[in-house]
Amino acid sequence: MKMSQLLMPTLREAPAEAEIMSHNLMLRAGLIRKLAAGVYSFLPLGYRVIKKIENIVREEMDRKGAQELLLPALQPAELWQDSGRWNVYGKELMRLKDRHDRDFCLGPTHEEVITDLVRREVKSYKQLPLNLYQIQTKFRDEIRPRFGLMRGREFIMKDAYSFDYSREGLDESYEKMYEAYCNIFKRCGLVYRAVEADTGAIGGSDSHEFMVMAETGENEIVHCASCHYAANMEKAVCAAPQELDAASQEMLPLEEVKTPDIHTIEELSEFLNINVEQTIKTLLYQADDEVVAVLVRGDREVNEIKLKNMLGCIELYLAETEIVEKITNAAVGFAGPVNLSGVKVFADYEITNVINGIAGANKTDYHLKNVNFKRDFQVEAFCDLRLATVDDPCPHCGNPVAITRGIEVGHIFKLGTKYSEAMNATYLDENGKEKVCTMGCYGIGIGRTAAAAIEQNNDDKGIIWPMPIAPFHVVIVPIKANDREIMDIADNIYQSFSEKGIEAIIDDRKERPGVKFNDADLIGFPIRIVVGKKSVNEGKVEVKIRKSGEEWEEQLDQVIPKIISLVQADLEMK
Ligand code: ATP
Ligand code: MG
Repeated sequence: MKMSQLLMPTLREAPAEAEIMSHNLMLRAGLIRKLAAGVYSFLPLGYRVIKKIENIVREEMDRKGAQELLLPALQPAELWQDSGRWNVYGKELMRLKDRHDRDFCLGPTHEEVITDLVRREVKSYKQLPLNLYQIQTKFRDEIRPRFGLMRGREFIMKDAYSFDYSREGLDESYEKMYEAYCNIFKRCGLVYRAVEADTGAIGGSDSHEFMVMAETGENEIVHCASCHYAANMEKAVCAAPQELDAASQEMLPLEEVKTPDIHTIEELSEFLNINVEQTIKTLLYQADDEVVAVLVRGDREVNEIKLKNMLGCIELYLAETEIVEKITNAAVGFAGPVNLSGVKVFADYEITNVINGIAGANKTDYHLKNVNFKRDFQVEAFCDLRLATVDDPCPHCGNPVAITRGIEVGHIFKLGTKYSEAMNATYLDENGKEKVCTMGCYGIGIGRTAAAAIEQNNDDKGIIWPMPIAPFHVVIVPIKANDREIMDIADNIYQSFSEKGIEAIIDDRKERPGVKFNDADLIGFPIRIVVGKKSVNEGKVEVKIRKSGEEWEEQLDQVIPKIISLVQADLEMK
């Protein structure tokens, strides 16, 4: 490929909208351009990266016996009504009507379409197990599309669906996909971790997310250095604390205290001269059409995913100010569990151990001192409702945990029979009996993986592509594009690489060397070869490794075999 002919609009400065490095560098290196919020075009270099990732994904999926197909993006509403998701998927679903006023959506995921296909085409246990996958464009009207390809409204995903005749079969299919995902992210040259995950709107039981470790990641990961426990913060379990012997501590009389101009838990604990661990925070949530109260210790945060799962509701958000004021008869900030009527109260486990605690008095500018469970208030249930912290012990082995950030690039679920039952995807077993298929689903964000690779591999000059997903392996930079001798040598090197399967690009633009070097660093080609006067006079070229910055002179007759072995060593991360 000749750079002079390539659409490669590099920029010195990134547009202001680029908040994170991968977004910034993808724009500056001319890999992508924005069409609308969360909607991007892939330019030639960017699309090469996408295709590299797709091909690694294909190879590893095929190796595990999965079969590639392609399903439509345009999906009739009837299928979604069949599965029961048309009304629960919410605003993320891009809905549209055809000329006959029939409802359709643009697929955010394909459980419905694949289950429909399988219920029509699979009749017998002899056709199972099956694992079908596609690499295709998905549509989700994300509330906050951002960070370029990280959270788009139109994005490329690999999605796979397994169909088995038993739970054990699903376990096996899931295990295979787990292995395939490990191979894929390893082969892409990424540092990743598989973590236990919440199953969210898709439903089902077991689930793992594959996280690329990066400071800018939207996910917090709780992991243990001593055992293999690792979980998404949404899912991370907080073990119930050992119950204190309440009888050993005297319950003091309930007391109302005036707390004007107190706005935070810290101010409250300072004002009353007590530990924050003694405070009880009371939050009112709107859970579908019911309001519930949730109690956590003042120094803790509610884990809304745990709360949502516990309540089994579809929508969950903090109750509106007017509702809080109506229920508590007080301004926001003074809710408490004592004499709180009309709502169910759920408490985090730790609340059992708060003796003589402080809570809102349901009266503006007042708190209650010496609040004690049982004597002063009742709860519907104690459960694990809070976010884990670094002070929590590992729920498996009890050793300390660490919290780091990551980018979710892949997600695998055991769906079980949720969709096959709702949509009647059945087969006949050996005895001619009708059974429902057991399903799994497995997704990888292709564009997000490219962005995550950049988050993990960059410096102040630009991107540092891992070899397996680099747009080209080598850039050849002739110092003067109008010098015949220099260009001949550069062309020869280029030809030899092409014959040997090494992907090279030649920077034949009539630009100054500095401009060419900067672009090569910005785009992040793993290897750079400079051809100059020394190549003509002494038969030597300069080789530079983008990642290490290592630079050396190489004899012309040596450069081809040397680079081939370097590239191959880097590609064989299988
Ligand atoms: P998130 O929590 O980040 O919204 P998700 O749980 O909704 O992700 P899945 O439904 O599991 O995602 O989709 C599978 C994969 O598709 C994700 O692991 C991610 O890599 C990718 N993905 C999901 N949403 C987007 C998006 N808006 N833009 C780009 N990639 C996405
Ligand atoms: Mg999502």
